[in-house]
Amino acid sequence: MEIQRKIKFEEELSRDFLDEIKEMSHCDEIDRCIQCGTCSSSCPMAIYMDYPPRKIIAFVKNGFREEALKSFTIWLCSSCYTCQVRCPAKIKITDVMYALKRKAIQEKVYPGQFAIPVLAREMYRMIAKNGRSSELWLILNLYLKSWNPFGLLKMAPTGIRLLKTGRMSLKRERIKNTKQLQKILKAVKEDGQ
Ligand code: SF4
Ligand code: SF4
Repeated sequence: MEIQRKIKFEEELSRDFLDEIKEMSHCDEIDRCIQCGTCSSSCPMAIYMDYPPRKIIAFVKNGFREEALKSFTIWLCSSCYTCQVRCPAKIKITDVMYALKRKAIQEKVYPGQFAIPVLAREMYRMIAKNGRSSELWLILNLYLKSWNPFGLLKMAPTGIRLLKTGRMSLKRERIKNTKQLQKILKAVKEDGQ
């Protein structure tokens, strides 16, 4: 049996991680966390998470890049902002979660077969290309790119009913001026770097 090392040595920590996330989340207060646990005890999703929000903030503060970016927690956060409004250190925890999701997508370290990051990525791609999301194509991409064709087969009867009643369309939605949208997205991306 392979013995797994659970501790990390100082030299293995990512020294730049805190500053990167501070910049992306526009939250300079992360290192003021007092580990009180108010965020974790307020979080409605905490029971499903692999690490509670308190621990994610500790990871960011102390340079545990891999642990934070590969966690399921960041994808399970429902952006309810409860932790953020209750944090005594005024840490923008929800915004930190968003920054971690963006970073995980940038560094391609999100759990590849977990539907939420795949959905976020595919929806972004579709909107960046066409200015709109088309439900049918988004769902197809989601199931195929998260390697879940059986899930797709299971949903097929519902999809057919939605198509028949006109609640879903085969058409790919597209806005007129996609070039203008792409210019805006490029400017936002440059501003965020
Ligand atoms: S509520 Fe704020 S200060 Fe308390 S553990 Fe969470 S992030 Fe840290
Ligand atoms: S914003 Fe996310 S982390 Fe914070 S309480 Fe809500 S679900 Fe939990």
